[in-house]
Amino acid sequence: MTTHSKKHWAPGSGVKVLRVARMGKDGWKVYASVPEKGICPGCGMRSRRRHGWRHRRLQDYPAHGDTVTVELRIGRWRCAFQDCSRSTFSDEVSVAAPHARRTARTAQIASHLGHATGGRPAERLMRRLGMPVSDDTILRHLKHNAAGAAPPARIIGLDDWSWRKTWRYGTIVVDLERRSVVDILEDRSVESAAHWLRRNPSVEVVSRDRCGLYAQAVREGAPQAIQIADRFHLVQNLRLAVEEQMSLSGRSTGRSILSEQDNVDAALHRRRARLAHRQSRDQVFATIHSLHSEGLSYCEIERRTGYKRRTVAKWLKFETPPDRRRAALNPRSPWYFEKFLAQCWKDGNRCGRHLFHDVKQRGYTGSFSNLERTWSVAQG
Ligand SMILES: [Zn+2]
Repeated sequence: MTTHSKKHWAPGSGVKVLRVARMGKDGWKVYASVPEKGICPGCGMRSRRRHGWRHRRLQDYPAHGDTVTVELRIGRWRCAFQDCSRSTFSDEVSVAAPHARRTARTAQIASHLGHATGGRPAERLMRRLGMPVSDDTILRHLKHNAAGAAPPARIIGLDDWSWRKTWRYGTIVVDLERRSVVDILEDRSVESAAHWLRRNPSVEVVSRDRCGLYAQAVREGAPQAIQIADRFHLVQNLRLAVEEQMSLSGRSTGRSILSEQDNVDAALHRRRARLAHRQSRDQVFATIHSLHSEGLSYCEIERRTGYKRRTVAKWLKFETPPDRRRAALNPRSPWYFEKFLAQCWKDGNRCGRHLFHDVKQRGYTGSFSNLERTWSVAQG
């Protein structure tokens, strides 16, 4: 291998590549060294008393789709200066942080990917790119970057950040003015987010998702701040509302909930539109039961709801809506987990995605959209 081509294997300037070897399935190994300086970082004096070598193993950019490990040889010295607090020291390395296991440029990619995609997806991407890193390491890089000195944040965004895709959620705090990560919290909870906000009283505006959780955290930890729903979540809200509307019309029984005659009346027409909005079997069930409890006859209920007398009679025999009773026996249905979901709701865990994840852990086999639809109807 010529000197010229060896240079391309260097992880940065100031590193001299001695040899490159192919290690089979372990990829490439680059043997390199840093120039010997012997300047003590404690006292700034130059030493000529060698104390041996230190070897660092650093992961670097891949080559030909394979991993590259740099075996870096660094000079160790004794400090000759009597008053210096350090007895030995190593030459300085510019291509990696002091105790890092990868070069600074590789760490930077891990951090960028972690920021953009979350821990687990970033881990997978890094492996495909020939730079395997654990998701915990990615998080450490993110946190490390976040810890850099920055003026106090004024306008922040709070959002969840998955340590592992739909497995464990943390909270990411982003400075929206500087577009940088400010902090990463271990979990997503009112306590930890509120605690962070109390420690950062400079916050004036918080952009957050539609979970009740962060809203509550801001109320507790930063009552001075204005809360806004971020654009992504506003659009998501709209999408869900449209979806819900579409699926409700799709699920309608085909029967008008009010008779044709009533539809002529404009006021009733508006009422019909309103009813159609909420038309789920739950709703119909509740309506029939309440009309009955008002003392109305089957005929009158039939006239008002558009349901046949026989159906009205059947529904009145049940204590819970038919769908719900059938569904309660089936782990494909959210009703199967009604108790658990109700508890989550009470505890402020109200974000669809999170509920979906938690309920899946308990054996739910249905879809996310079904959960969201059913549950939003159930919670009014
Ligand atoms: Zn010294």
